Amino acid sequence: MEKNVQDELKALLLKEKAELEENLARIARPVDKEKGDYETTFGEVGADREDNTTEVEQYTDNLPVELTLEKNLQNVISALDRIEKGTYGFCENCQKEIDTERLRANPSARTCIKC
Ligand SMILES: [Zn+2]
Repeated sequence: MEKNVQDELKALLLKEKAELEENLARIARPVDKEKGDYETTFGEVGADREDNTTEVEQYTDNLPVELTLEKNLQNVISALDRIEKGTYGFCENCQKEIDTERLRANPSARTCIKC
């Protein structure tokens, strides 16, 4: 992969990482930020019964969102790690180079279009 293309994709990944971290910060707290490990926070609305029900509902709503964001963040971190190691842009399955257009659409893609 050409250096300028990789730089372009790295910039996209860093932007995506910042956005994901921002969204995660609203509903979760970082357990290990390096690894993109987060934990959904349990909001304190209040102490009475109704408030507790709201807290549980919010938590239940936030949990799947948090897990999706966390998974995306871990993919982005892993892609940035592969850039550092020089293995970025190769399919994890067949080891062939992933099409640049596919990476532009999804810079954290791990596999080529065929796999
Ligand atoms: Zn492949």
